[in-house]
Amino acid sequence: MQKKEFKAESKRLLELMINSIYTHKEIFLREIISNASDALDKMYYNALTDSSISFDKQNYYIRISIDKDNRTLTISDTGIGMTKEELETNLGTIAKSGSYDFKQTKEKKEDINIIGQFGVGFYSAFMVSEHVKVITRSYNSEEAYLWQSDGSDGYTIEPASKDTIGTDIILKIKDNTEEEKYEEFLEDYRIKGLVKKYSDFIRYPIKMLTTKSRKKEGTENEYEDYKEDETLNSMVPIWRKNKSELKDEDYEKFYEEKHYGFGKPLSYIHQNVEGATNFRAIMYIPEQAPYDFYTKEYQKGLELYSNGVLIMNKCADLLPDYFAFVQGLVDSENLSLNISRELLQHDRQLQFIAKKLKEKIKSELISIQKNDREKYEKFYKSFGKTLKYGVYSDFGMHKDDLQDLIMFYSSKEKKQVTLEEYVSRMPKEQKYIYYATGESVERIEKLPQTETASEKGFEILFFTDEIDEFAVKVLGKFKEKEFKSLSESGDIGLDDDKDKKTPKEKKEDKDIFEAAKEVLKDKVKDVRASNKLKTHPVCMTSEGALSIEMEKVLSAVPNNPGVKAERVLEINTSHQVFDSLKNAHKTDKDKFELYVNLLYQQAILIEGLSVSDPVELSNNICKLMV
Ligand code: ADP
Repeated sequence: MQKKEFKAESKRLLELMINSIYTHKEIFLREIISNASDALDKMYYNALTDSSISFDKQNYYIRISIDKDNRTLTISDTGIGMTKEELETNLGTIAKSGSYDFKQTKEKKEDINIIGQFGVGFYSAFMVSEHVKVITRSYNSEEAYLWQSDGSDGYTIEPASKDTIGTDIILKIKDNTEEEKYEEFLEDYRIKGLVKKYSDFIRYPIKMLTTKSRKKEGTENEYEDYKEDETLNSMVPIWRKNKSELKDEDYEKFYEEKHYGFGKPLSYIHQNVEGATNFRAIMYIPEQAPYDFYTKEYQKGLELYSNGVLIMNKCADLLPDYFAFVQGLVDSENLSLNISRELLQHDRQLQFIAKKLKEKIKSELISIQKNDREKYEKFYKSFGKTLKYGVYSDFGMHKDDLQDLIMFYSSKEKKQVTLEEYVSRMPKEQKYIYYATGESVERIEKLPQTETASEKGFEILFFTDEIDEFAVKVLGKFKEKEFKSLSESGDIGLDDDKDKKTPKEKKEDKDIFEAAKEVLKDKVKDVRASNKLKTHPVCMTSEGALSIEMEKVLSAVPNNPGVKAERVLEINTSHQVFDSLKNAHKTDKDKFELYVNLLYQQAILIEGLSVSDPVELSNNICKLMV
């Protein structure tokens, strides 16, 4: 029979798995049982619509059998099984979910991540087995197939015989090595322990024929061994238990078993709502964003159970986009089982549940923010952007939900602060919430237009994410305080003297600005005296709703709308440079033009824009030098 190669990436991953230095080899059992449980879920779901499938819970189980003589451990399930094609796609490829740089996997820790992140669950069998057989018959097929492989050099698939629907996974356990006693995985007690440890919550019975001892009949104290069928797991799903019965560890184990994320979750929520609509939910906030979180491929959603029956793997309607990072499940008695997925979306009960979940997630986040700031900062580092997008999206519909959760870097605190914190310590004379935009904190710190505000002791929020300014434009105000960009031209509340809104512009100065405007033509909307600068000579600001930073963001998107900010060149009239400009204006027209162009180009560079003609800039500087 022809041996088929695994797909290239899968092969590398398999090799990694087989030679794994990962110490928790025992998790292979959890992975296989979890697959079996998923297969049972799918079968049970089919029973809802297909009357030929039994609804009797007794027919849904997982069985583990040990054959010490042949060194095999078999895990069987009465789940949905696989067709030949499914065998091919499901067990011939790993990391279906996308490409990944396996270089990272040298470290032990990353091994775990990989197992979690790519659902390579099944392949973990190769950590303890020298050979793996899968005999399976699909609910959709009359034929059964045998898939087998002894590792990275490929697999075969051939017809097999199997009377019932379901899957048997047969592991030929490796020989012991000096470091590893693989034989343990053929011991009753070890398997029992592993099921208890990792798979206790599985909702189908995990049965095993175990050896027990009893007094021999008719004897005083003679004992004999006998076999008895035992259900190894307690079968109560974690979300059906009371919070008081559960420890952090239980939630963490469940998180791992479900592959909700890698490592430990940052936080978990166990919600139990009773009333006209009942539901129980377990939700997790991961610590790190999944590798594809900020891509289109990422699918948000929670698992949805109707009274213990899984009806949907990722129910997107349960979570708003801005909480797309939340993982977990919901179980409700009030959802109709055979409602179509399209209709489900409009289901009133579902909408009610979604609303409750949203409120709960928000209150959990607020509570972390208040009580464990370090944790919140970690969270915010991973998912803050999503929240800010949330403020901006849907025309600001969610701003009330989100404005307390978002944070920005503060010039004073040198860390992320909430808007509430900012507003609560605003000095009386400060009218606005000030912000400055730029590509990094370091860069913004150097922006000339932050000078006056800083000197006055006003806190400035630094906007370094593209979305930031768009988000506050949608917010408009927070607690009645308007947001103001330090790059906005004109009066932004920084002048001391209330009588003169803008610096006194002498007639002579006015002429200079007009002349400068003429030199620059359409490049700027206006040239003005600045009220933002102290020691710096120039800066570029903008007028109107669109800032220069926003223009940058918009012009980077494909099919960009081609909008331009209305630029205003602001000049510091107290700066020596302005005197030189004045002199040139009086005496030398060419020099004046040269100075104006140079000031403009400097302002452009400071803003992080590129000058349209760097050669001209260079020539201009040379002209100054000679
Ligand atoms: P994951 O479970 O994360 O998708 P696995 O590599 O563990 O990744 O499994 C790959 C796929 O193989 C599963 O998604 C499932 O479709 C199929 N599969 C694995 N085990 C079984 C089983 N016992 N019964 C039916 N299908 C299975």
